[in-house]
Amino acid sequence: MSKEIFDVAIIGGGPAGLSAALTGRIRNKSVAIFEHMDHSKKLQKAHIVDNYLGMPQVTGNGMMQQFISHCMAHNPTVIKEKVVNIFPGDHIFTLLTPGNTYEARTVIIATGVVATTLFSGEKDFLGRGVSYCATCDGMMYRGKDVAVISYSEEGEHEADYLQELCRTVYYLPQYKDIPSIRSDIKLIHDKPKAITGDVVVENLVMTKESLNVHGVFIIRQSDPVENVLPGLELEGEVIKVNRDMSTNIPGVFAAGDCTGRPWQIAKATGEGLTAVLSAINYLGKKDK
Ligand SMILES: Cc1cc2nc3c(=O)[nH]c(=O)nc-3n(C[C@H](O)[C@H](O)[C@H](O)COP(=O)(O)OP(=O)(O)OC[C@H]3O[C@@H](n4cnc5c(N)ncnc54)[C@H](O)[C@@H]3O)c2cc1C
Repeated sequence: MSKEIFDVAIIGGGPAGLSAALTGRIRNKSVAIFEHMDHSKKLQKAHIVDNYLGMPQVTGNGMMQQFISHCMAHNPTVIKEKVVNIFPGDHIFTLLTPGNTYEARTVIIATGVVATTLFSGEKDFLGRGVSYCATCDGMMYRGKDVAVISYSEEGEHEADYLQELCRTVYYLPQYKDIPSIRSDIKLIHDKPKAITGDVVVENLVMTKESLNVHGVFIIRQSDPVENVLPGLELEGEVIKVNRDMSTNIPGVFAAGDCTGRPWQIAKATGEGLTAVLSAINYLGKKDK
């Protein structure tokens, strides 16, 4: 059986991604939404949202549930995996998740913002000790010492997996819940500050102490986007887009917080709509 090639692959199932998916399905396109966590976990935590037209005094969670159920009623394909790389091909994009490969004719990036400041050294050591995906890179650290810095429970699975391979795994939860991890993982309650080394990573510097490690895995809701799609043009930290939400890569569009301020829901849903209409327009021209 040949593999499905989606008309539109949407990376991120927050307000921007769901809005794009809804209109994509209404326009009868095959749409895949990739969402590796709960849909916009951050918005679900918002106590009250009162500036979205027509939905006064709604909780973030209540709003997201309405967005999700409206979108899902139109049956997009939801893939609960993290997209770690996108490779542009001749007419098709290949999307890699930790365990699978998917194909699509257009891509909409709706991954939100990296909510925390990058650590000093993080960019410099990317691929030389810094990783955003244990399943992808864990084997390189077999028998070695690694630290996992995580902003959500997702990091607990990554740490458990690394403990099967590595000599020592340090786990640094940067969230409030008590982590549920294997007992042989070393739990550290401290704030990471910097990643240092010479050619490769050697240390993770924290507020109270330093750890000698060969690798540092950082698990956030969103990774720096240039890591997912090399060659994507940025404007500062955000994706550079035109008014139709197209990027410098033909067939790639972006929407929501990842395109810059204001970080607001109405902007995200509006841009999601514009991005998918532009993707559909792009597909129409290709098919002529
Ligand atoms: C506490 C709080 C309160 C807020 N209150 C308001 C308010 O009152 N009014 C307002 O307008 N705005 C508010 N905001 C801002 C609002 O939440 C954002 O502007 C909005 O969620 C942006 O939507 P988005 O879809 O662009 O990104 P997000 O909501 O961040 O969604 C991005 C999604 O992409 C997923 N993702 C990221 N990378 C990948 C990947 N590689 N593979 C698969 N999935 C991926 C993430 O898991 C996430 O679900 C608030 C934000 C917070 C944190």
